[in-house]
Amino acid sequence: MSDGGSRIDIGSGEAMHALATELFPICRSITGEGVRETLRRLSTHIPMELVEIPTGTTVFDWTVPREWTIRDAYIKNAIGERIVDFRRSNLHVMSYSTPIHARLSRAELRPHLFSNEAQPESIPYRTSYYQENWGFCLPHEQLVSFEDGTYEVCIDSTLADGSLTYGECFLPGDQSDEVLVSCHVCHPSLANDNLSGISVATALAHALHTRQRRYSYRFLFIPGTIGAIAWLATNREKTTRIKHGLVLTCVGDPGRFHYKKSRRGNADIDRAVTHVLRQQTPAGEVLDFSPYGYDERQYCSPGFNLPVGCLMRSVWGQFPEYHSSADNLTLITPEALAGSLSVCEQVVEILEHNCTLTSTNPYCEPALGKRGLYRATGGSHVGDRNMARLWVLNFSDGQHDLLDIAERSALPFSVIHAAAAELEAHGLLRR
Ligand code: ZN
Repeated sequence: MSDGGSRIDIGSGEAMHALATELFPICRSITGEGVRETLRRLSTHIPMELVEIPTGTTVFDWTVPREWTIRDAYIKNAIGERIVDFRRSNLHVMSYSTPIHARLSRAELRPHLFSNEAQPESIPYRTSYYQENWGFCLPHEQLVSFEDGTYEVCIDSTLADGSLTYGECFLPGDQSDEVLVSCHVCHPSLANDNLSGISVATALAHALHTRQRRYSYRFLFIPGTIGAIAWLATNREKTTRIKHGLVLTCVGDPGRFHYKKSRRGNADIDRAVTHVLRQQTPAGEVLDFSPYGYDERQYCSPGFNLPVGCLMRSVWGQFPEYHSSADNLTLITPEALAGSLSVCEQVVEILEHNCTLTSTNPYCEPALGKRGLYRATGGSHVGDRNMARLWVLNFSDGQHDLLDIAERSALPFSVIHAAAAELEAHGLLRR
């Protein structure tokens, strides 16, 4: 559906896929113009502040690196043909490669060529952020075809003082307590591991920015690892406001959902996402926290220990296309992106509406029939509503919140919440 303007509503699966398609060719890295260009395009959809942190800034145990600029790169064969060409795929250049222009023998070139024998037709994705090096990535079947001879090698890049750029979209709510949504923006032409998270986070921010919000929402679009560390180091005082958080990644493929719990393991966000994933078909899988993965590693480092989990469909490293040119726009689908946005919106609904209520009639069941709140006949939906009222009344003892009741009754949170609102309106519950 068009919103009447030229732009399709970013909330649809097609629009999220179109956004990923628009961003796909941009050569992103942990710093540089690719990240800025990506963030500028996102800022046409949502309010976004671009923040620059200068090279050399100390952020906890790390230092913001020099900024990387890449203009061109190629390997030419003896007759001058570009047999490996950055213009065809930005994955061909190892990210953060230092500049080089030289003629090298095959033996000299070989240590700088990277391929993946297990996926011989794909270009692997390689980086060398914190160790100066240069390299080319190429399909293994091409690498083994290199003949003896001399090759012209060129990487037209610059590593120079500059800054690290991240994007922040802050949506103030009724409360200063915050929900954090974070995704990395540092991968070049890779769709599921990166652009899917960016697209869903943008669509979620877009959906939230026009609605009434109990919580404030902070969306971070940051380079992986160093970006999260830099944000935490420069915003330490804000972290105590973060009550719930989600890292979004690999949410565009049609695989079933996975959720990696926060380090706390029983935070409200863990319970909320677990509840929503249980209702999915097929049901999502919940994984325990581990100190590896995406930026939940930084948010859940022991000094912060924030309630931040990670929502994925297929798990990084476990799908064959991961970190290769096969993770392209055909791997992600509009339906999967829309399903991921829907899960995020259901989680937000729980966070926004979860509360603990107290029954005003704890001695035996209140007479629901005389209030028109009990219907003995009807379809299963009416049955659910009746059951939801009984569950809410019984467990609204000031000790159980609505999410507890949804978990215990195995009814969707939305049904429990609707029942609670109705019972509260009839004076049968109080806050
Ligand atoms: Zn990755």
